[in-house]
Order: sequence, then C-alpha cells, then structure tokens
Amino acid sequence: MPIPISAIKGVIWPALPNPNNSLLLALQYQLEQTQWWSPEEIQKWQMFQLTALLAHADHTVPFYRQRLGVLLEVRDRFLNYSDLQQIPILTRQDIQQQSKEMISTALPKEHLPTSESQTSGSTGRPITFQTTKIKGIFYRALNLRSHLWHQRNFSAKVAAIRVPRSKLRQSKQKQEGKKIWADAFPSGALVELDSGKTIAEQLAWLEKENPEHILTYPSNLLALAKQAKKKGIKIPNLQALSTFGEVVTPEIRQVCQAVWNISIVDIYSCQEIGLIALQCPKHEHYHIQSESVIVEILDENDQPCAPGQIGRVVLTDLHNYAMPFIRYEIGDYAEMGEYCSCGRKLPVLRRILGRSRNLLVLPSGDLIWPSYILSNWAKLGPILQIQVIQRSVEVIEVRMVLSRAITENEEAILHQHICADLKNQFQVKLLYVDEILRAANGKYEDFISEVVV
Ligand SMILES: [Zn+2]
Repeated sequence: MPIPISAIKGVIWPALPNPNNSLLLALQYQLEQTQWWSPEEIQKWQMFQLTALLAHADHTVPFYRQRLGVLLEVRDRFLNYSDLQQIPILTRQDIQQQSKEMISTALPKEHLPTSESQTSGSTGRPITFQTTKIKGIFYRALNLRSHLWHQRNFSAKVAAIRVPRSKLRQSKQKQEGKKIWADAFPSGALVELDSGKTIAEQLAWLEKENPEHILTYPSNLLALAKQAKKKGIKIPNLQALSTFGEVVTPEIRQVCQAVWNISIVDIYSCQEIGLIALQCPKHEHYHIQSESVIVEILDENDQPCAPGQIGRVVLTDLHNYAMPFIRYEIGDYAEMGEYCSCGRKLPVLRRILGRSRNLLVLPSGDLIWPSYILSNWAKLGPILQIQVIQRSVEVIEVRMVLSRAITENEEAILHQHICADLKNQFQVKLLYVDEILRAANGKYEDFISEVVV
C-alpha cells in the first residue's frame, strides 16, 4: 500500500492529505469495500441513489418532467430495477434536439462548478453535455481505483500519447511544479505527446523519454509495437501499457505481448459519462463501476441480455445532477459475463464491441457486424494501414497507406479477396492515400459507414 502525500509540514507518516485528496481517499475507502459486496447489496444502494437522482431530475430538469411521469405512482417509495426499465431510452438524437431542456434549473451548489463539452462528431452524432465538479471527483477516484487494482508503480514515468487535454485540466495535475499522472500519492512524471504525430515521430520520442508506462489508444499502440519490432527500437524501462478510447482486439493484446512481453490494461470510458468499466486485475474482461453508473445490456426487445449474449449498452449516470443521463444509449455493443472468479461482485462485461454505426449495411438493408479481418487483407500487399468506408449500400471504399507501389497482380488478388470476403455484394473501390487520420477526438475508426439507417 503506497502512502498518500501529506499536506502538513513535518508529518510524513501516517499522511494527512489535503482536502481534495482526502475526498478521493474517503471514496477509495468505500470502493475498497463495495467491490466485495453481494450483487443484491450493490443494487439496493444503486436504487437509493437512483431514487434521489430521479427526484432531482423530475423537479428541476424540464426534459424529464414528462418522461418520468410513468413513475408518478411510485414516488413515495424507493425505486427498484423494474421501475428503471419503464423509463424510455435516451438517444443521441434526443440530446441533440433537446439539450437545453436537459439541463437542471436548480443544481445544488455543492455540485458547482459545471463545465460544458462536446463529444466528437466523428464518432456519430455530436452532442453537447454538461458535467460537474462532483463528476470530476468520481472520475479521479475510479481512475485511482484502476491504478490500485493493477498495482501501478506510482513512481513510474508515464508517457501519454493522446489528443492534448484542456489547459485547465493539465494545470490541476501538478506536484511541486512537475506534471504528474496519479492523484493523492507521490507520482512519477507525466510526459505527453500529441497523438497527431506520426508513428515514427512517436517512437523517436518514446526512445528518448524511455518511460516505464505508455498510455494511448489501442490502434496507436498496435502501430507502435509493430514499428518498434520492425525497426528494432527498444524502450528498456517499459513495464506497463494502458489503453482507452477504442476496442482492444485480441490481435492488439497478442502483438504487444509478443513485442514487449507486457499485458495491456484497458479502460472502458466515454467523455459524457466518464469511467464505465475497468479491466479486472486478474482477467482481460471488465468490471462495471456500479458505484457510479448503472449499465444495462439490452437485446432488440429492450430486455436484459443473459451472460454470453451481445446487446446494446445503455447507461445511467448516478451522479450527474447538472445534466442527468438516464438510460442513455451510447451506441456501443457489449457482451455480459458471469460473475468473476476474482471475488469482486461488480458485474462483468466480457467484451466491448464498438459502436452501432459501425455495422455494415447490406444491399438488402440488413445490418451485420463487419466480420472480415483487415490484417488478412493487409497481408496481400504492401499495406501499412487500412480503413474501410461504406459510401453507400452498394459501394465500399478501402483506403490504404502503402509502403511501396502496389503491383497490378497484387492489386487484382487483393480486390478479388475483399470482394469475396464481402460475399460479392458490393462494388469495391481501392484507394491509396498518404495517411489515414484520426478523428478530432483522437479515436481511430477502421470501419466507417456513411449509410444512414
Ligand atoms: Zn475480476
């Protein structure tokens, strides 16, 4: 157990943390215990919190006044899970159309200040949302939980390659004038690079910085691992890899294991809700952060999925009182798992599958999960990077970055192979580009459908 930073001169141990860190550690004390609670106990307290949230939403958020009418008759008691299921699902379209009506007109002052952000339009429909100081505290506490679960070396130097954070947030994360990455404990240095840099530039930077820990997007990490191997670039101090913001495929885990002999630790999060699920300390699956969010995985009839079944992710944020997200369909799919053998009773997501807009639309109008394997296509030519864009129900464009010119023969084989993988249902256009850029929020999509369904 690391010792927190003490704020009192002359007192090192036991530490007396400053008020902000005391809040985080007070939450940590509870989170340490709630993770072992029975599922019934966790759900009981979720429902107490949900009842408080819905009462607030009903009284102060115009959008929810009508929407929660269905629960009128139960307002004199605590809600249960089936009450929650009666609330209509909140879509991104709802938020786009009525975001002003979704803001509380009477936010308790303890939740202030609020801040407004947007999620990137490149991952679907852009929305504007508000979050609060209290949400920020939960975010930091759950992040700290992830560090503790995975027994992070707090003195490690972390290299983060991502979209630059806002200046406001950077300035808060400092100890004795240096940038740091962990809250409440003496933290090693944080060095940051814009994910807009090329992989070659990133590797040169990593070689120079020689961090113990890299934090970046999964697809970026995969490219780094492959290039590091190819060019024989070493990062001798490297001992930990963390990812966020995209789906981590088995291939990415496998390549990083092979190149660096390190297992990835992933986080499932989104900008508008924060941390949703953290990777189990003992497994590759994820534990839902039930103290902060209710996660429902629903089938096409809006019924809860059983373990092993894949469904839509629907989220209820328990603590955003500025702009409540109640049964919010984020656009991801996930597979529920059984309770974990590690003993934590926080529900398990076995895997997270990406976004609904990433389904391929067949000429028949049916939707399918794109099941082709891009790395198989890439083997057929000098392909460094590949991206598939569905331009219409008939046309698929395959964009590629090449390491050298492709021969006519290679191109013919590639084209034939892609058409066959797509069951010869599409007109396939091959396009060679200098670079495939990330979206504005730093996420990289290997399949984009422009077809509106
Ligand atoms: Zn576990």
